[in-house]
Amino acid sequence: MRIFSGIQPTGRKHLGNFIGAIRQYVEGQDRGDPAIYCIVDLHAITVAWDPAELRSNLYDTAAILLAAGLDPHRCILFRQSDVHEHTELTWYLAALTAHGDLNRMTQFKEKSAKQRELVSAGLFFYPVLQAADVLAYKAQEVPVGEDQRQHIELMREIARRFNERFGEILVEPEHRIPEVGARIMDLQEPSSKMATTGGTEQGTVFVLDEPAVITKKVKSAVTDSGTEVKRGEGKEGIANLIEILAVARGATEDQIEKEFDGSGYGDFKGAVAEAVVEFLAPVRERYEELRPDEAALEATLTAGADKARAIASETLAEVREAIGVGPAQ
Ligand code: ATP
Ligand code: MG
Repeated sequence: MRIFSGIQPTGRKHLGNFIGAIRQYVEGQDRGDPAIYCIVDLHAITVAWDPAELRSNLYDTAAILLAAGLDPHRCILFRQSDVHEHTELTWYLAALTAHGDLNRMTQFKEKSAKQRELVSAGLFFYPVLQAADVLAYKAQEVPVGEDQRQHIELMREIARRFNERFGEILVEPEHRIPEVGARIMDLQEPSSKMATTGGTEQGTVFVLDEPAVITKKVKSAVTDSGTEVKRGEGKEGIANLIEILAVARGATEDQIEKEFDGSGYGDFKGAVAEAVVEFLAPVRERYEELRPDEAALEATLTAGADKARAIASETLAEVREAIGVGPAQ
């Protein structure tokens, strides 16, 4: 099973990223042949960015991924911009992507509405680059959170269109969306997903938050005027906390509801805070050890890029040959 997924180096990674994506990456290392994980700096420049911060955030993200358990001997971890095949394939796939399809993308609608100065064509093109990321490796499985379902559907459509026209070269990938934790909500606005772009500061638990900060954010999570620790209509806040606790404890949501049957929200939130602190503490501690050594992080990413390029360049040679670009092989 060839696995591929990408994660942005924008700002700090949060509990939603950790539960929806990073947790699956770690697990995928044992099934992936290979498991390929890419820090997508080219996606990060589709909204406003600062060059120095982008570099620094990239190392932050690499260190978080390694701290979470990615092992460069069991997976390929690399930086997107190191492998030029991604951008080249983006252009070829652009020729097969319907403008109308890109216009329908929810992420584009949401993120473009939040841009103050410039809605870049890059933001519009984001899903094509994402399709190229995955298709360049002929990946069969893409572990992602729920918000990426639509983009995976589009990349399947692009692969299908390519293969119908030029022969069976690309692979239509399947998404792998976790059953629990695929869409962690903002603690302050439980109707929107916890997000890097546009989330609330108090409602976003960052992987690197200190225990006291995590506790404060969880305890001030917006809930409802009821008293029952149960999922249901109008109880998005409580349902979100139940989901988070289930993942952090490795339990089911039903078990959590049963355990807190009759408890007040205060006790319940205290338990969630404690579990999240425990869940993230080992990652933060390991991160502190890894982050200072940028030379070592760079060496890991460079070695990963060499392995990634070896795979992607083969796909690109086939693609160029099939579409009539460049000299015949
Ligand atoms: P942005 O808001 O800028 O898009 P992001 O927080 O979505 O940033 P990404 O790097 O784009 O972060 O996403 C990395 C992975 O995390 C993706 O697989 C995405 O589906 C997943 N993910 C993002 N937010 C959540 C969430 N709230 N719950 C579960 N998974 C999430
Ligand atoms: Mg995102």
